Amino acid sequence: MTSSIEQANILVIDDEMGIREGCKRALSPQGYSVHTAADGDEGLHIIRTTKIDLALIDIMMPGISGIDLISRIHEYEPDIICIIITGYATVELAVTAIKRGAYDFLTKPFTMDDLLLIVNRGLERRHLTLETKRLQKIEEEAQRLSEEKARLEELDKAKIAFIRLITHELQAPINAISTYLDLLINEYIPPEQHKEILERSQARAKEQISLIADLLEYGRLKEIKTAGVPETIQIEDILRNCIDEFKTETKEKNLEITAEIPSNLPPVTIITDQIKSVWTNLISNAIKYTLPGGKIQIGIQEANSELKCHVRDDGIGIPEEAKERIFSDFFRAKNAKSLNIPGTGLGLAIVKQIIENSGGRIWFESVVNKGSSFYFTLPLNNSKP
Ligand code: ATP
Ligand code: MG
Repeated sequence: MTSSIEQANILVIDDEMGIREGCKRALSPQGYSVHTAADGDEGLHIIRTTKIDLALIDIMMPGISGIDLISRIHEYEPDIICIIITGYATVELAVTAIKRGAYDFLTKPFTMDDLLLIVNRGLERRHLTLETKRLQKIEEEAQRLSEEKARLEELDKAKIAFIRLITHELQAPINAISTYLDLLINEYIPPEQHKEILERSQARAKEQISLIADLLEYGRLKEIKTAGVPETIQIEDILRNCIDEFKTETKEKNLEITAEIPSNLPPVTIITDQIKSVWTNLISNAIKYTLPGGKIQIGIQEANSELKCHVRDDGIGIPEEAKERIFSDFFRAKNAKSLNIPGTGLGLAIVKQIIENSGGRIWFESVVNKGSSFYFTLPLNNSKP
């Protein structure tokens, strides 16, 4: 017998004092701690205040019946072994008691040996049940840890791939600039071409600055979910400013930008710099990936406790095979790259992270050579306290 069984706490619930005392006299010398109760209520009180392993319950008592008591005890602690004491044992009674969760029953009158046998068997069962549960918990924990380990390994692999990608992306412009400078220093370039080479170098330097800015923002977003303090603002004001900032570029490309903004839009609680970054990235993409003379339509609507925003263009579109990866870090579709327009492929990854951190959704529809529409939502109830 294991030590946990030897030190077991046993509760005898019986209105007959003779049975209570008899059980106590028989069980105490075995090292069990025996508690007694004269009715169901008293028994339940002891169960709530003392850690009971096994209860011997008289079936016929004033107040709560023995059968009902089993369910009440198990509601509180399902692993307490309940043994019914009964003056008459019928099959019907046995079935009811077992159905209600009794482990076994003892028919009066019973001998000390009968009592010890049934109690010891009951305690063995409890010990096994608890041991099985403990092992199950350990197994579950081991499973959880192994899943966590796999997740961390996956993350580690992704991080290494990410660093490799960043290093590559950072190297390309600086290598180009260095080559241009070598050509100039070693006087391989005729003076009339100097300006062109310097302009090319400047373009690559700008590309690198923009990549670093993207990386910084991206890192900040990944590290702290809410970088900055959310403010309750009108996002259409930010949108108007952004459109203004792109005036020169739209004019140069002869693009027509229209914005449909209803009056009386409700405010949104969001980090101002982040929503600015969302508008800037989406509008900049629409401008970059639309051919001269194209049209860009921007809109905001209020529906179902959220704001639904869109940026639509009639530009080059996104090829089918690229659609799945469009929000991935550093991904750029072939048709975009072939336009020779600089980009790092981080813009949409940043936008997605911001929108999702803000409780919204982002998606797009696109047809090659017809255009693309990017949609995002922002919940409105986040502005309520
Ligand atoms: P940057 O990080 O400078 O924004 P990027 O514009 O290439 O660079 P994303 O904004 O992340 O990167 O966009 C990823 C890719 O998705 C683009 O390279 C392009 O292939 C495609 N894409 C995004 N917006 C559009 C659009 N409006 N029309 C067509 N393709 C688009
Ligand atoms: Mg972009």
